[in-house]
Amino acid sequence: MTTLEKMKILTDSAQYDLCDYVNHNKSSQINLPGIYEAIGHDGCKIPLFKTLLTNKCKNDCKYCINQSKRNFTRLELSPEELAKAFLGYYNRGMVNGLFLSSGISGDVDSTMEKQIETVHLLRNKYGYDDYIHLKVVPGASKDSIKRAMALANRVSINIEAATPSGLAELSSTKDYNKDILKRLSWINSLQHKSTTYPNSTHTTQLIVGANNESDKEILTRMEKIYKNSDLKRTYFSAFTPIEETDLGNKQACSTDRTAKLYNADSLLNDYHYNVKELVFDENDKLSLEQDPKILSAEKMDIFPVEINTAPFVELIRVPGIGVKSARQIISIRKKMPFSKKEELKKLGVVVDRAEPYIKISGEYQTTFDF
Ligand code: SF4
Repeated sequence: MTTLEKMKILTDSAQYDLCDYVNHNKSSQINLPGIYEAIGHDGCKIPLFKTLLTNKCKNDCKYCINQSKRNFTRLELSPEELAKAFLGYYNRGMVNGLFLSSGISGDVDSTMEKQIETVHLLRNKYGYDDYIHLKVVPGASKDSIKRAMALANRVSINIEAATPSGLAELSSTKDYNKDILKRLSWINSLQHKSTTYPNSTHTTQLIVGANNESDKEILTRMEKIYKNSDLKRTYFSAFTPIEETDLGNKQACSTDRTAKLYNADSLLNDYHYNVKELVFDENDKLSLEQDPKILSAEKMDIFPVEINTAPFVELIRVPGIGVKSARQIISIRKKMPFSKKEELKKLGVVVDRAEPYIKISGEYQTTFDF
């Protein structure tokens, strides 16, 4: 089998690992295996080469295309093969970075070693100095994580579930506390210690809808992780049934659900809300229709807030005001108080959303009845 044929299989197998930046779990239009277009924070498209080193895996994750019980073509690229294949794309300007993941072939540490060797070759043999995201496998040793973090701009470990029992529903071979949370805490403690990539970041991913965990359980876990670590962000992968897996007949998770989880997760991570401030239904689900920030605002008793005096934590709770615009409001009002809502528009505030919740110089901006 040629390297290109192997890459076609391995990059298809990697499609369930979400790319950086936002959830764009789709191949690009470029007709070559492994090129995925991630969308940057400013909306630009960033092509990454996303692949597994191997689709061999000894684990039995019930949702996964690579689970040990499935019968399909298993193969592996050598670190040298993978490094050269990636550089073939990179040197022709087709991708801007590498997202490297792997099934667990043999033991965990030999899998990590092969990933590290690939990245080591790129950095030290071929002089590649651009973006690399390396996926840490569950159960990896602290030493291997440390060496991976010395070579990658970003690492991640998928927590997959919100609770030990939730993960046990999905896999009999992974221990939630030991193989995953412990490793996440190691990653966190090693962050910023790399002399080569001191600004490296770490992320995680959950699969949503493959087990019975509620939105509230998922967000409670994320709140705990954000409070105890510098986790950059979380990716929510909507479960899709795969033929010949244990969950092949289970209903798919709607992307409407993951979209609301992204909204609520941003409130925890970027706005530092507590889960207690979010609104869930009687089944601990988020509303699929309404925005979590608006629902949360409706049950708060801080509104309307005065734009010229409200503290930062209250300003960022106003629907339509983001973290950046709240900072700008605070900086500007020190010099000149705001007098009309049009001034807020210029800062990017979504005034139509914000006006029921604010006063400017003592004046309500709407007839909204508090
Ligand atoms: S560890 Fe689990 S999720 Fe990862 S490749 Fe193996 S079976 Fe799939």
